[in-house]
Amino acid sequence: MGNLKLKLVHLYPLFLNIYGDAGNIKALQKRCEWRGIELEIQQFNIGDTLEAGTDMFFIGGGQDRQQVEVSHELQKYKNLLTEEYYNDAVFLGICGGYQLMGEYYQPHDADRLLGLNILDAYTEAGATRFIGNVTASVDYIEDKQTIVGFENHSGLTYLRGDTTPMAKIIVGNGNNGMDKTEGARARNAFGTYLHGSFLPKNPHFADYLIKLALKKRYNDDFDLEPLDDTIELKAHESVLNKTY
Ligand code: GLN
Repeated sequence: MGNLKLKLVHLYPLFLNIYGDAGNIKALQKRCEWRGIELEIQQFNIGDTLEAGTDMFFIGGGQDRQQVEVSHELQKYKNLLTEEYYNDAVFLGICGGYQLMGEYYQPHDADRLLGLNILDAYTEAGATRFIGNVTASVDYIEDKQTIVGFENHSGLTYLRGDTTPMAKIIVGNGNNGMDKTEGARARNAFGTYLHGSFLPKNPHFADYLIKLALKKRYNDDFDLEPLDDTIELKAHESVLNKTY
């Protein structure tokens, strides 16, 4: 797949990057490299300049106090990032980053944190912390219907309007421990509570995002060359349906 290029912006890696969430970038980087797709990666931190024309955005998880900083910064780029969203850029947010893709996150002991509102969702800190392995099902990836990961959050997320769940819970709590939904999706924007990190254990989901980004940039559907995912799928199976 010579000459194909993609640009990815990693939003606030110095603030939102806990539980190995940067592993998601590595997975995208290697899965593109192994297919000859040139993935340009820009680390975007406070004080950097953000330009239009990005194909993929990634934002990781973090503690409430890091989210306070990032929520404030994100408001400066809300218009640009919303335009990118409507230009079908692919977004992947993990946990704290996911929460800031919604309308707001209300922590226990801080003022309401405004998000990007590209996901029609809101999050309120709950009384308990959800910690543990998660197995969930997706119905839009033909070759694999499960995703797995690890959750660690007190935020309870509720979806509204056209924003749909990214997956349905099989094992674990997901968005709020009540409605059996995990994560959220709107257009090409995805948010999930799954740390782990997420994409290395779910190679099919990584490829799904790469295909969406290629479609956005080249307005064409690309079949990605299959890779030997033996190790990735062993990691997937090691978490699948684990209840502890
Ligand atoms: N601080 C948020 C919560 O506790 C997000 C945590 C995280 O990113 N793991 O819900």
